[in-house]
Amino acid sequence: MRVLLAHALTPKRRRIARVLAAAGHDVCETDDPVTALGLCRRWEPDVALIHAECCGELVCDIKSDPVAYGTAIIMIERPELSPDAALDGMRRGVQDYLIEPVADGEVLTRVEAASRTKELQHELVAQGARLEALLREDALTGLSNRRAILTQLAGMVSGARRHGHPLSIAVCDIDHFKRVNDRHGHKTGDEVLVAAAHAMGTHLRQEDQLGRLGGEEFLVLLPDTDADAAMHAAERMREEVASAPTPVPVTVSIGIATWEAEEPPEVFLARADEALYAAKDAGRDRVLAATLHDRT
Ligand code: GH3
Ligand code: MG
Ligand code: MG
Repeated sequence: MRVLLAHALTPKRRRIARVLAAAGHDVCETDDPVTALGLCRRWEPDVALIHAECCGELVCDIKSDPVAYGTAIIMIERPELSPDAALDGMRRGVQDYLIEPVADGEVLTRVEAASRTKELQHELVAQGARLEALLREDALTGLSNRRAILTQLAGMVSGARRHGHPLSIAVCDIDHFKRVNDRHGHKTGDEVLVAAAHAMGTHLRQEDQLGRLGGEEFLVLLPDTDADAAMHAAERMREEVASAPTPVPVTVSIGIATWEAEEPPEVFLARADEALYAAKDAGRDRVLAATLHDRT
């Protein structure tokens, strides 16, 4: 592991450095807090071992730095250190204390323990981020799941209302998908779903969002897109699915809607859904745009 050692007294610093180096750790020594902070930023040590007299504002500087903050800090203090001062230091980000005189074995044990704690903390943060991503993700396709795409829809409606930008959506449903399962099995059905989802996303813009509403039904959010542009995008999605190298050829029916002022997200979505069912009724493998008939 990498250990930064900031200590004003050269003989003591050298001794601690030798102990750590003998245990196989990389050690960087300095007697200056400014150099210590620079090393924490550039070298990103696992642990910084800081002597109280070489500290200054170093703890706060490290803990408030966007790169250096990950370094675990162990302070080397005089025996006079009061419990209140120690607590205060811990609140500022000190992980542990070594009280002088410091035994060689204790330096090693504490530094290695601080490094393990730091690793565990990083692992917890990473695990939290992974779990959060899983909550938003559809397991089969890797797209946003129903909850996530509907949350994004609400956000986009709110943005369209505030900024007066156009917003369109497309609800896409694979045609006669039950037959695919019935004739080729559920596993092939799953493969078709994944391939069709991929085909739908082929030409979408970076700011567009594609999610799985459930089953063989998908929702596409098209920000800054008016009715004509939405028809164009949906038509291309339909063609992409029809010509995709899916294990079994499939087609998709699509209902599109363009947001009308003050329309709540669920009404907006229901209009696109109605257009989808009209597309199914009209013979499938086509795109139909929603009308406003139910709002007048
Ligand atoms: P339509 O053209 O009217 O949409 O007909 P359809 O057969 O696609 O529609 P229906 O709603 O009758 O059937 C949808 C089928 O999708 C039924 C269900 O078993 C299947 N399905 C839903 N989710 C999954 C899935 O995750 N994997 C697989 N393989 N099939 C799924
Ligand atoms: Mg279907
Ligand atoms: Mg369906």
